[in-house]
Amino acid sequence: MTLFAGPSLVESYLEQIHNSCLVGGEGALADYIPELAGVDPTGFGLSLALHDGYVYSIADADIGFTIQSVSKPLTYALALTHKGFDAVDERIGVEPSGEAFNEISVDSKRRPRNPMINAGAILSASLLLEVEPDVDTAFGELVDFYSACAGRKLVLDEDVYRSEMKSGARNRAIAYMLQSFGVLHAEPEHAIDLYFRQCSVVVTTDDLAVIGGTLANGGVNPRTGRRAVSQSVVQRVLSVMTTCGMYDGAGDWVTTVGLPAKSGVGGGIMAVLPGQLGIGVYSPLLDEHGNSVRGVKACKRLSSDLGLHMFNVARESRVTVRGFYSAHELHITTDRSDSERRYLHGKHDRIRIYELQGDLTFSGTESVLRRLRSSATEFEVAILDLSRVDHVDEVSRSMFVGASQNLRGLQRSAVIVDPDGVVIKRHSHASEPARGAQFVVTTMHEALTRAEDFLLKLAVEEG
Ligand code: GLU
Repeated sequence: MTLFAGPSLVESYLEQIHNSCLVGGEGALADYIPELAGVDPTGFGLSLALHDGYVYSIADADIGFTIQSVSKPLTYALALTHKGFDAVDERIGVEPSGEAFNEISVDSKRRPRNPMINAGAILSASLLLEVEPDVDTAFGELVDFYSACAGRKLVLDEDVYRSEMKSGARNRAIAYMLQSFGVLHAEPEHAIDLYFRQCSVVVTTDDLAVIGGTLANGGVNPRTGRRAVSQSVVQRVLSVMTTCGMYDGAGDWVTTVGLPAKSGVGGGIMAVLPGQLGIGVYSPLLDEHGNSVRGVKACKRLSSDLGLHMFNVARESRVTVRGFYSAHELHITTDRSDSERRYLHGKHDRIRIYELQGDLTFSGTESVLRRLRSSATEFEVAILDLSRVDHVDEVSRSMFVGASQNLRGLQRSAVIVDPDGVVIKRHSHASEPARGAQFVVTTMHEALTRAEDFLLKLAVEEG
């Protein structure tokens, strides 16, 4: 199948993936409460939220279902935010358990092994109650946080919540056991209450995709543009989703799908491709692990067909240098005196333009700078054209500034064309000049002027 750019084709492609996963109606509805046992087994939705907030919604993307265990990474994120990493790590581990989600499983320190199994999730909820003991208020804050991640106001399914409360013997046992081990400090009944409420929040696949997109975006909701959670918390949450998110099938999941993900017995799966997109899938027929059968299939197809595996090395090493050429080819006229023009005549091949593209992270930037270095004898000034670059991370930013300074030491110069302010955040600290800002201009005309100035200055210095 060939993929072409353009939204309508992507949509039809997603529809094909959706349809191919419809075949066979295997799996069974969760039946521990009547509300889950009674849902339409044929419901099947798929959504993809892109980094700019655009959402593709396929088929039953508007069916509401309860979030169930997909809530676990979110409550863990909130616990980390309110209590801090050290306090949380003392009470909840980060090791995969290799056991079923509701296993009564603790490590040698009697901590739940990770926050993605019920023991860890109940403990995460209890940590929120240590900050805000009133369950109603704590739930209000929790649902506000989930809503900030989803980009719309989410609500509770009262019937599911009541049923969960009635049938929760095993989860209650887990809470009391954790209390007896001295790790759960809140009132166990309150922890269970908050946990069941969080499981009963209603979402659609669009919501799961946007929540996933928020995590993919380092905590900034791609739809609202608002930060919902810090980058360091997101990094931790995605780590445990990768190793522990898909219950006892975690190893197989990382190998075949390669996306941090979390499933729930309501039939939802949320998956994340860090830096790129969020996925939401819903189909309530579950496999023996409690994962949506069609949801898993759809994620596998998305990953393999769209190359979304997070260790897709080809994506990482994609070409960052789109092309390079000398200033001869620019056809830009700068404002020069006759003598300057005479001197510069024929010298434009000493100015080289490198056109970069994509997102610049460490590996891409490193290869660009290595290339500059190895060809430094071929130019006096390098102009790095970043107008096609969307994002430059912190480390790449310092690498660019550092490289510009190093080139000065080699009697070379680098000028960065950065119309969108991806290298130097011009507007964020307007009062203090950004480090290295002297190398950065907004247009190619300015860049060429700077480059020529440098050549003229060299001529003066060399006499
Ligand atoms: N409410 C369910 C429970 O705790 C959620 C389980 C799940 O989604 O895996 O048993």
